[in-house]
Amino acid sequence: MLLREVSYARPGTVDEAIALLAEHDGARALAGGQTLLNVMKQRAASPDVLVDLGRLDELRTISVSGAALEIGAMTTLTSLIRSSEVDVTRPILAEVAATVADVQVRNRGTLGGNICVNDPTNHFPPLLVALDATMTVAGVDGERTVPAEEFFVGVFETTVREGELLTKITVPAGGKGSGDGMSGVTLGAHGTYIANAAASVVDGTWRIALGCVGAVPVRATAVESALSQGVDEASARAAVEGLGATLDPPSDVHASADYRRSLAETSIVRAVLQAHERAGG
Ligand SMILES: Cc1cc2nc3c(=O)[nH]c(=O)nc-3n(C[C@H](O)[C@H](O)[C@H](O)COP(=O)(O)OP(=O)(O)OC[C@H]3O[C@@H](n4cnc5c(N)ncnc54)[C@H](O)[C@@H]3O)c2cc1C
Repeated sequence: MLLREVSYARPGTVDEAIALLAEHDGARALAGGQTLLNVMKQRAASPDVLVDLGRLDELRTISVSGAALEIGAMTTLTSLIRSSEVDVTRPILAEVAATVADVQVRNRGTLGGNICVNDPTNHFPPLLVALDATMTVAGVDGERTVPAEEFFVGVFETTVREGELLTKITVPAGGKGSGDGMSGVTLGAHGTYIANAAASVVDGTWRIALGCVGAVPVRATAVESALSQGVDEASARAAVEGLGATLDPPSDVHASADYRRSLAETSIVRAVLQAHERAGG
């Protein structure tokens, strides 16, 4: 299906992009277009103005600043995979990017677009919550930083308001004594997740987030505290026992709610063991 008529702007700076988004009711940022153009073709979204971020090279940078990795919102998944900064500081980001869909989607799709969509089946929302990332959101009144846990507010909804732009994702650098893991079950190889878990440990302190069991990533805080005592397969299994009963996942054509509960528990055990091993076991 063809797109309906839409105005198009291609700003050269972030400030211009923000001004355009603030000026026009019904304006939408266009990143890689991998989701937005598809939903526009299906008439599920009908923005009046598309503000193409494609020329904003300042949003494509990846750098290490102090003890943090700073990733511009327009960084494509392919750039994450190829980045030496990511490889050195938080390689899980590249590893997960490499499992998303196919090469075309990874070449065009951006990290910012992936999380601004907040599709509950997307790979990065739970991972960024587990990694304790923060998002920088800019608008005409300035910038604010939002912890990943507060960034996702509902299905296809984030704290980015009309007229605002996500500019940067900041991820604390890993290092000695830290390890990350992600595990889940997808619909076929490189397919969409049915359920997943991301786990991160830094000096014995755990952060775990589940995907696909709610509108936003769900922190498994009871499991996190149960794990801080030490980890092996038996203790990881013991820590997740009963977790499924506290979850309220959707039931759909791919999996019943009960199956998702069970997958969530299994995914946590696998992600935790992976993270633990990478932290030096
Ligand atoms: C066939 C296919 C399969 C896929 N499978 C998976 C999968 O299994 N797992 C997965 O995680 N992802 C998957 N994706 C999604 C893909 O990874 C992209 O991340 C996603 O489509 C959005 O990224 P984008 O850059 O294309 O954003 P766009 O489509 O351009 O934008 C998406 C939304 O985010 C908003 N937006 C984008 N950037 C910003 C910004 N900087 N500030 C404010 N708002 C912004 C846009 O206005 C729009 O509403 C799939 C996509 C396709 C087409």
